[in-house]
Amino acid sequence: MTIVILGGTAEAHQLAAALVADGVDVVSSLAGRVRSPRLPPGRVRIGGFGGVDGLAEYLLQQRAAALVDATHPFAAMISGNALQAANRTGTPLVRLERPGWGAHPRAKAWSWVPDAAAARVAADSARRPFLTTGRQSLAEFDSWADRDVLVRLVDPPSQPLPQRWTLIRSRGPYSYAGERQILREHAIDALLTKDSGGAHTVAKLDVASDFGIPVVIIARPEHPRLPLLKTVAEAVAWCRAGENLGSWDHQLYEMDCETGG
Ligand code: NAP
Repeated sequence: MTIVILGGTAEAHQLAAALVADGVDVVSSLAGRVRSPRLPPGRVRIGGFGGVDGLAEYLLQQRAAALVDATHPFAAMISGNALQAANRTGTPLVRLERPGWGAHPRAKAWSWVPDAAAARVAADSARRPFLTTGRQSLAEFDSWADRDVLVRLVDPPSQPLPQRWTLIRSRGPYSYAGERQILREHAIDALLTKDSGGAHTVAKLDVASDFGIPVVIIARPEHPRLPLLKTVAEAVAWCRAGENLGSWDHQLYEMDCETGG
C-alpha cells in the first residue's frame, strides 16, 4: 500500500518519517525548487508532474492508496491539481496544512494584505525593511532599490539584488534571540512576510511586535475545499486508520476534519 505525499514542508517531512518508521511505503514528491532540499525518509521523486494529467497518471502508476497534500499554504496550484487528479482516479485525498498566524495574540495589530504588490504599498514609508516574503516575490520590490532592504532567502535570488540591499541566506527554524539580534543590528523599521504559519518562523513576528515595528503580512491564497488536517499527528492517524480498514472512503468525514477553503 503506497501513500503519496505532496511535500516541500516540514510537516510533509515529519509525516513521511513517521509513516516510514511504521513500515508504510511512502513516496514524497518535491517540486525541485530548492537546490539542496532536506530529503525525507522513504522514496522521493523530484519535479513537476506536468499538470493534472501527469499527476493522475502517476497515482495510477504507483497504485496509490491515498494522497496527502502537505504542500505549503502558498502553493495553491498543486493543491488544485491534486484535487482534480484524486477525483479522476478515485484516490482518497486529505490536506495537511498548519494553521496560519491569524490567531497570534498580536495579529490584529498587523497589516494584512492580499499579495506582494499590496505589501510594498503598505510598507512604502519604511527605509530599512526586512523582506521575508520569498524569492518569487522579489520582483515586486524593484522600486525599493533606493533603500536599505534586508532580504532573507533559502536559495540565491534569480536576479542580482540592488546594491544597497543585504542578503541573508538561511533556512529556519529561527529563535527569538537570533531574530532580535538581526532586527537590532539592521535597525529594521518594517517587517514584511507571508502567513506561512507554524512555529519555525514565528519568532520574527514576536520580536517585531515587542519592538513596536510595523508588520505587513500577506494573507494565504484561496485553496480548494478539501478535508483538512492541522497536525502531523492527525495525518498519521488518518493514514493508519485508512490502512487498517483497507479503505479511506468512509472515514474521511468521521475524523475531525475541517473543510479547507
Ligand atoms: P505551486 O505554484 O502550487 O505549483 C506550481 C507547479 O509546481 C505545480 O503545478 C507542479 O507542477 C509543481 N509542484 C508544486 N509542488 C509540487 C510537489 N510537491 N511535487 C511535484 N510538483 C510540484 O507551487 P509553488 O508555490 O511554486 O511551490 C513549489 C513547492 O515548494 C511546493 O511543493 C511547496 O510545498 C514548496 N514551498 C512553497 C512555498 C511558497 O511560498 N510557495 C514555500 C515553501 C515551500 P506540475 O503542474 O508540472 O505538476
